[in-house]
Amino acid sequence: MKGFEHIEKELEEMKEQGLFRSLIPLESDQKAKVTIDGKELIQLSSNNYLGLTTHPRLKLAAVRAADEFGAGTGSVRTIAGTFTMHEEFEKMLAEFKHTEATLVLQSGFTANQAVLASLLSKEDVVISDELNHASIIDGIRLTKAARKIYKHVDMESLEEALKASKDYRTRLVVTDGVFSMDGNIAPLKEIVELCEKYDALIMVDDAHASGVLGRNGRGTVDHFDLNGRVHIQVGTLSKAVGVLGGYIASTQAVRDYIIQKGRPFLFSTSHPPTVTAACQEAIQVLLDEPELIEKLWENTRYLKAGLEKLGFDTGKSETPITPVIVGDEKKAHELSDTLKKYGVFAQGIAFPTVAKGQARVRTIVTAEHTKELLDEALAAFEKAGKELNIIS
Ligand code: PMP
Repeated sequence: MKGFEHIEKELEEMKEQGLFRSLIPLESDQKAKVTIDGKELIQLSSNNYLGLTTHPRLKLAAVRAADEFGAGTGSVRTIAGTFTMHEEFEKMLAEFKHTEATLVLQSGFTANQAVLASLLSKEDVVISDELNHASIIDGIRLTKAARKIYKHVDMESLEEALKASKDYRTRLVVTDGVFSMDGNIAPLKEIVELCEKYDALIMVDDAHASGVLGRNGRGTVDHFDLNGRVHIQVGTLSKAVGVLGGYIASTQAVRDYIIQKGRPFLFSTSHPPTVTAACQEAIQVLLDEPELIEKLWENTRYLKAGLEKLGFDTGKSETPITPVIVGDEKKAHELSDTLKKYGVFAQGIAFPTVAKGQARVRTIVTAEHTKELLDEALAAFEKAGKELNIIS
């Protein structure tokens, strides 16, 4: 298109450097095996940790809600788009999270943006781990607060940032609970202790810990027994919870304030009844079926041990996210393509999602994978890894 020639040029460059992403449509539902291009593949790329995307109870709840309340809400929450089920769900979630209140937003991404952009002003400072998720980075870009970045999970670096920021009104330290590209868990206990020492507030993004860590999947705060000591928890309903959305779990005042000031909350239409009803059912499933989380962790240990035994570099993962780090961007995509040939869907991830030279195939195992499927996946990794000289 005339005027956009520079975009076309940049796309060409991305293709040459192996940085161009194509979308890969699923022709099936999101399960441990999915259909892509007419071929059944073992799914190792979704965030559907517990298999809840297709859980019969969630599907039934969604169908019933659509039948009774319709397909959409027709308004933003603050005008005419709050249904009683939205508020019922938020109360249920607050009870689940052991916090005073919660607020649900369209996505985890917008929840981070709403918190960071609305709660902080120019008198404040936000102190953020360098590997925090893009939605935190974008949220920080939107605030008027000062910003400091500390080295990834480095408590000395965090302490320096805290010492250097004592003149601000409010200091908010923000960290991912589980880092999405490496699968490591933030040292939340140490972070809490430092923040208590320096009188700073803490915000945790629990996108990859919601439904995965803590009792019944309550998240990182519960996992480390820190209930009541973390001021703001953001989580997602789009991954282990199996549906869509983001939540902020904190005080009633934080909830009320974001309703007044959170731009994604104020200016974007609320979740359809199907989404809210399915999320509500999902939390009930977390309470009723703890064996799903047990199975997830059993599968995690099995796949991780298998990949490590084959000689792959799985970095410092401690969770169901297990990266297979290959470094070179093109190699990561080649590994992903070769795995597909051998029946496994595990996406290559490259810059800008991870640093240049840190490209990887990221695997995420779910509670739905059987041991047989995991053995098949490991056999595919062995063949592909040897073919591409990644392992010997
Ligand atoms: N935070 C983290 C750490 C994430 O990994 C993600 C999902 N990629 C999000 C926030 C955004 O969540 P959602 O997909 O619900 O927008």
